[in-house]
Amino acid sequence: MEAIKDFFGSLMLKEMLEGMRLTGKYFFKRKITLRYPMEKTPASPRFRGLHAQRRYANGEERCIACKLCEAVCPALAITIESYEREDGTRRTTRYDIDLAKCIFCGFCEEACPTDAIVETHLHEYHGEKRGDLYYTKDMLLAVGDRYESEIAARRAADAPYR
Ligand code: SF4
Ligand code: SF4
Repeated sequence: MEAIKDFFGSLMLKEMLEGMRLTGKYFFKRKITLRYPMEKTPASPRFRGLHAQRRYANGEERCIACKLCEAVCPALAITIESYEREDGTRRTTRYDIDLAKCIFCGFCEEACPTDAIVETHLHEYHGEKRGDLYYTKDMLLAVGDRYESEIAARRAADAPYR
């Protein structure tokens, strides 16, 4: 019985009419597709994109080489080497993140006591070979320096919920 129903349904172009009915239903509704990359959807302040290292307003690096981010990283993507300064504080000599290993969990950001390592809103980056996604301290600081105002604004927007 089902087969006969399907046979006559196909003769009457039932699926095509159903498709046209659906198209007609949405034809005059507000469009929800965007012309990316000219148009973009809003991103949450918690969006976890490309990493950045931040500085204080006086130019001092925020990172104190406590290595909490390295310890918490489940992907073992962070490598830190550090030294002690004459005033007894520590700073990194090496801070690398292998983004090919990173799973963008945000644990490094959560663990950081100085808001030094953050995941930014940036997602439009790429590498053409594996080494391109190996971000060194200088590269991370450059991202932080360039986007500090956006990073600070997004963290301020998220602060009431943290
Ligand atoms: S986001 Fe997660 S996986 Fe990526 S570096 Fe941070 S802790 Fe590691
Ligand atoms: S980025 Fe933050 S958690 Fe990682 S070593 Fe520096 S201060 Fe510590």
